[in-house]
Amino acid sequence: MKDVRIPRKEIERVLESLDLEAENSGVFYGRWVKKEEARTIESRSPIDGSTIARTTMADAEDYENAVSSAQQAFEEWRDIPAPKRGDLIRKIGEQLRKKKNDLGYLISLEAGKVLTEARGEIQEMIDVADFAVGLSRQLYGLTIASERASHRLLEQWVPLGVTGIITSFNFPASVWSWNSFVAAVAGDSIVWKPSSKVPLTAIAITKAVQEIVEKESMPSIFSLVVGRGSEIGEAMLNDPRLPLISFTGSVESGRNVSEKVAKRLGRTILELGGNNAATVSDNADMDIALKGVAFGALATAGQRCTSTRRAIIHEKIYDEFLSKLRNIYENVQIGNPLDEKTLVGPLIDEEAVKKFRNALDIAVKEGGRIITGGDVIESKNGYYVKPAIVESNRSMKIWMEETFAPILYVFKYSSIEEAIELNNIVPQGLSSSIFSTSIHDIGEFLSGHGSDTGLVNVNTGTAGAEIGGAFGGEKDTGGGRESGSDAWKNYMKRQTVTLNYGKTLPLAQDVEFKI
Ligand code: NAD
Repeated sequence: MKDVRIPRKEIERVLESLDLEAENSGVFYGRWVKKEEARTIESRSPIDGSTIARTTMADAEDYENAVSSAQQAFEEWRDIPAPKRGDLIRKIGEQLRKKKNDLGYLISLEAGKVLTEARGEIQEMIDVADFAVGLSRQLYGLTIASERASHRLLEQWVPLGVTGIITSFNFPASVWSWNSFVAAVAGDSIVWKPSSKVPLTAIAITKAVQEIVEKESMPSIFSLVVGRGSEIGEAMLNDPRLPLISFTGSVESGRNVSEKVAKRLGRTILELGGNNAATVSDNADMDIALKGVAFGALATAGQRCTSTRRAIIHEKIYDEFLSKLRNIYENVQIGNPLDEKTLVGPLIDEEAVKKFRNALDIAVKEGGRIITGGDVIESKNGYYVKPAIVESNRSMKIWMEETFAPILYVFKYSSIEEAIELNNIVPQGLSSSIFSTSIHDIGEFLSGHGSDTGLVNVNTGTAGAEIGGAFGGEKDTGGGRESGSDAWKNYMKRQTVTLNYGKTLPLAQDVEFKI
């Protein structure tokens, strides 16, 4: 691989187009706050290690101000009719359409994603915006039969409050929109703490969105606090002014979130790690299965929550499938994600490279066999590795964990029952796939005793969900659901309304109260 260098001019062009500077404030609550003495973080591109820009971080006072400002905004915003709230999100969607290329480019620079995926992330934001606009004219409740004469029993949904959103590095833009656009049409305001590994994307998005909020003279419902997880993140978990924390990150971090928020009886949406398997039947369409497994395992260099981490292959096609997959792995272009031909970009940082190597060492010690890849690619300052395929067995333990890097553990199976058991054996439960043309195998996989994951795919890969469905997983993945379907209910309060329009006061269950 040739040494990669991003031309400085390109970095400067994209910073200027997104209104970013060499040093940016990471604190926004109606205004950008930059203190002389603030701690700063440097964003270094995983592509070549070059410094993109610096960001000042929030302190405790900034956090207090951001939450108070979000509370004030909420009080105004919740009284604006939902379709009008939706209209703001529509205009924000239009703004994102205009900025899609440059925002995508910034994600590539900061997170190392290949351009098509980075721009796809902004497209996902636009799609969620469209969805939220429609939703703003729905937010429907039920009418329920009342047992009393001249009574109505209804269910209605009202805004919840200030939603706290904590996001991971690997989807620096879209995960925020899955939550915030839906929360906004629901009538909530938002405080966002992004990952400190990707603050510039969060700042650029907040700037783009705020331009529209100001133009429309709307309350400042989108706040940003770039800060440490142990400080600003913890403050959010313990803050009763945030009735909902939507958290995206590792299982380990998520356990802490769950405990702290539960202690104050707050609500959480937990979107935690995955350990996703693709089952390939002996009767699968080979081309579809190969493309689905390869994309699932290699996209975003294996740094998606939905990345395919295990392939469970029928014994009859095992050798053929593996040899073809190995061929794909050995010919895939690894390198500069800004080059349109590249399919695998860098890992996010040095720590991720260490974890990749460490997991492979353990796999080999446990009896796994590396079929291809696994090397760290020499590069001056980027973090590039060769994606690995590891032939694995049931007695190994390493594949029970999520290593956030491109390692695919492969297994052989002989019956659909065995494949489902292997699919479900891990503690995580985010996504799974079956590639098959057998109605029996597909039916079993989709049955109540089939795959136990939140996202189940047939003849398509574990990665790459659409926004219209509710996104999330079971077991250690945390049970949260966000984005489409009825995930909007998470961001609202359900009220059961009993309305008596009669001239007497009958009591439920025929209870008598004679006064
Ligand atoms: P991470 O857990 O290290 O960090 C996630 C966020 O938590 C960051 O913003 C971090 O600053 C914050 N944080 C850290 N300590 C905290 C604390 N004590 N209190 C509050 N916040 C704290 O995860 P990461 O490395 O950024 O992301 C990768 C992980 O995220 C993987 O496990 C991946 O599977 C998962 N993920 C899940 C989904 C999903 O939808 N299920 C989506 C994307 C990523």
